[in-house]
Amino acid sequence: MNYQGFFKSALDDLRDQGNYRVFADLERHCGDFPHATSRTGETSDVTIWCSNDYLGMGQHPKVLAAMHEALDRCGAGAGGTRNISGTTHDHVLLEAELADLHAKEDALLFTSGYVSNWAALGTLAGRIPDCLVLSDALNHASMIEGIRHSKAERMIWKHNDLADLEAKLAAQPLERPKLIAFESVYSMDGDIAPIKEICDLADKYNAMTYLDEVHAVGLYGPRGGGIAEREGLMDRLTVIEGTLGKAYGVVGGYIAASRELCDFVRSFASGFIFTTALPPAVAAGAAASIRHLKDSVEERTAQQDKVAQVRARLDAIGIPHVENPSHIIPVMVGDPHKCKFISDMLLQEHGIYIQPINYPTVPKGTERLRITPSPVHSAEDIDQLIGALEDLWGQCQLARMPLAAQ
Ligand code: PMP
Repeated sequence: MNYQGFFKSALDDLRDQGNYRVFADLERHCGDFPHATSRTGETSDVTIWCSNDYLGMGQHPKVLAAMHEALDRCGAGAGGTRNISGTTHDHVLLEAELADLHAKEDALLFTSGYVSNWAALGTLAGRIPDCLVLSDALNHASMIEGIRHSKAERMIWKHNDLADLEAKLAAQPLERPKLIAFESVYSMDGDIAPIKEICDLADKYNAMTYLDEVHAVGLYGPRGGGIAEREGLMDRLTVIEGTLGKAYGVVGGYIAASRELCDFVRSFASGFIFTTALPPAVAAGAAASIRHLKDSVEERTAQQDKVAQVRARLDAIGIPHVENPSHIIPVMVGDPHKCKFISDMLLQEHGIYIQPINYPTVPKGTERLRITPSPVHSAEDIDQLIGALEDLWGQCQLARMPLAAQ
């Protein structure tokens, strides 16, 4: 086989479909986020509008101070897997912080949210005899891969569709082990799952629940515990999974659950056992971020305010975006080439960075720009964004929403 030829033709196919990913080379400036320097092509100043550092916690003084302090105290790396010398006191404190955040008996850290889903779902579904996994159709790749890796039987229920979920549950023997896997805030549409009703079905049909709150922790609930905290449902979920890399501004993932369940995953998940632990400074920074957002609602209130401002401005110029009850604003383009063109022009002509979201991340025909306003975007940043989108929408001759219908 001509391996190089094979790689090239696969990549050429991606390019032809408009789905080849080009990374923006960005230099972040601590204290100046969401402004950065783009090193893609000619060096230029850019405003980032698609970051998952949703609250700007990646530059929060308390997070930075905790990381500096831990770096000086512990050095750079953890020095081993959790089992072989890599469990530092910072990891232990962070797990306690996370268990407290979700009012669970215990929590378990992983190197990322992706790994936490892959490892925890893979282990639970794979090791519970005859476990059936009921997976929401729009679940994240990390959940899908974890479920596949488990080799357990899987059924996909229509996105957020309780009737479809119930039909699938009801067709199974009550005593068969079942795991319902779903998300709270879905990252590409920004819609929110009916968590209470899913928990009711889980109770009725004897199923466990696994909720990914990656796009909600730090952002919703009185202490940033996510949508389940906001709705008073944390105790009804078997497993709550989250990330430290988005609203908390650092990196890492976790599950929070009963002591036995965490111990089970700790003891059997290869994705937990056989990899070097997160650096202690990362654990310390994440713990500082969680502690701050447990006490402070300022950041999430300001974020919601900026989200409302951007939505209102898009409505005023008729640019179509998905209405949803979250902080994610999907601006619908519906064509991969135009989506990439708008993204390129935003960067080159307007100093705005928004990565195009194309297939396979979203279905074909629903290509979009996913905008995530943060508390640190200014009124001028919003003016600049709206002006640029209006200009490019016209250039691409894209449809506008009829103003009367808004
Ligand atoms: N779950 C969901 C729903 C996600 O969107 C993501 C990341 N985009 C992850 C899990 C993985 O989290 P992390 O980035 O911490 O690996």
